[in-house]
Amino acid sequence: MSNVAVVGAGISGLVAALRLQQAGARVTVFESGNRVGGKLRSETIGGERLDVGAEAFVRRRPEVLALADELGLADQVVEPAGRRPALFADGALRGGFGRTLMGIPAAADEVRIPLRWNPGADASIGALVRSRLGDEVVERSVDPMVSGVFAAHADDVSVRAALPALAARLDAGAGTLGEAVRDALGEPSDGPVFGAFRGGYQQLLDALVERLGDRIMLGAPVPEVRPGWSLRGSLFDAVVLAVPAPQVGRLLGLNLPELGDAVGKIPAASSALVTLRLPDATELPDLSGVLVATREQVSAKAFTLSGRKWDHLPGGTVRLSYGRLGVSRIVDDLDAGLIAAAREDLSFVLGIDTEPEAVHVQRWYEGIPVYLPGHRATLDAIEAATPKGLALAGAYFDGVGVPACIARAEAAAQRVLADLS
Ligand SMILES: Cc1cc2nc3c(=O)[nH]c(=O)nc-3n(C[C@H](O)[C@H](O)[C@H](O)COP(=O)(O)OP(=O)(O)OC[C@H]3O[C@@H](n4cnc5c(N)ncnc54)[C@H](O)[C@@H]3O)c2cc1C
Repeated sequence: MSNVAVVGAGISGLVAALRLQQAGARVTVFESGNRVGGKLRSETIGGERLDVGAEAFVRRRPEVLALADELGLADQVVEPAGRRPALFADGALRGGFGRTLMGIPAAADEVRIPLRWNPGADASIGALVRSRLGDEVVERSVDPMVSGVFAAHADDVSVRAALPALAARLDAGAGTLGEAVRDALGEPSDGPVFGAFRGGYQQLLDALVERLGDRIMLGAPVPEVRPGWSLRGSLFDAVVLAVPAPQVGRLLGLNLPELGDAVGKIPAASSALVTLRLPDATELPDLSGVLVATREQVSAKAFTLSGRKWDHLPGGTVRLSYGRLGVSRIVDDLDAGLIAAAREDLSFVLGIDTEPEAVHVQRWYEGIPVYLPGHRATLDAIEAATPKGLALAGAYFDGVGVPACIARAEAAAQRVLADLS
């Protein structure tokens, strides 16, 4: 029986471990913290368990739904209530975005010169959209969306890595950006875009822990991985590293410096999330949330009116998120400072001054990897430098969302199994 170590018990590590165990390996998961889940984390706030990291997943990808099904959680998956977000721009709330891909409109007036794109090339999403649709579309539509998902400005995020379907349409010779966006979006679907777990992501974590049982070691940080494969004084046949990119750099730096450097250089943005439990009777607008345009006098980059977005959550639940690449000072503020900022933003944008019944502040240092232009080439170099017996998984690969992390973790488990056979 092969003996495989998995480092990190976030969703990536847990899924990799499950697949390895199912394939007959003896798996040991090392987690530095005293709980599993990483950025999937629920806390009790005002008597209610609420997610303070990821709270949803896109349903267009199959991975979370398939895993929920496999773990007997299909009936615990819930849909949003159907409300839409608004944009806060020029000091006022504005209506919907229409049909967009990460804020890039499917139909908009575009410069009439032919689109020039070299197949295989890359650019920032901001630069591409600016060149075809102007600054305003970037600042009022694309940037708010990109900042929400990737915690970085559109000018810092790669088209090829963040929007691979769009890059594929551009490579194939789309005549305009709008045409590429429409092709990448495909036919509109009637179903909900997002899903979540009725009991929060904790439900998914509990089900995974139940399957893996005592194979998870908590409070077991791995300071170093040595080829061969040795870690924490034990030998393994193979290792899956399912920790964020900066940690991979630290873990491999001494023994596999080329690989450690390449991964460790991938930047990650820090963010903070303030959850407010307002009285459920608070009159919140009929919106799922608010995205904030570039250069507004608002510290938050986005508000989620979670209690309006989801019927299963208490009505007064509001989440405000702060911080993006290069704008992280606010993340270091004291809890009191972040809570004051959240209340100010809520008052300024929505006119709500109600005293919260409970508050929670969660910081995620280096929490979201940033896919700079050229990221795909960095990943190719990382793949080429990864020796047999080692596989890498995590949000810095093929998408930051939970579905993409699951897909990458499954691929990492397959890679290790192939190496062992
Ligand atoms: C605020 C926020 C909101 C988000 N919202 C959403 C959302 O709504 N939907 C969505 O799809 N995605 C969302 N994401 C993204 C998604 O949650 C993450 O990309 C994903 O959960 C990452 O999982 P992971 O297992 O790869 O990494 P992590 O969750 O970071 O897990 C890594 C684990 O490794 C452990 N570890 C680190 N170093 C070591 C070491 N040396 N030894 C042992 N253990 C170690 C850590 O303690 C951690 O538990 C969000 C992310 C953030 C930060």
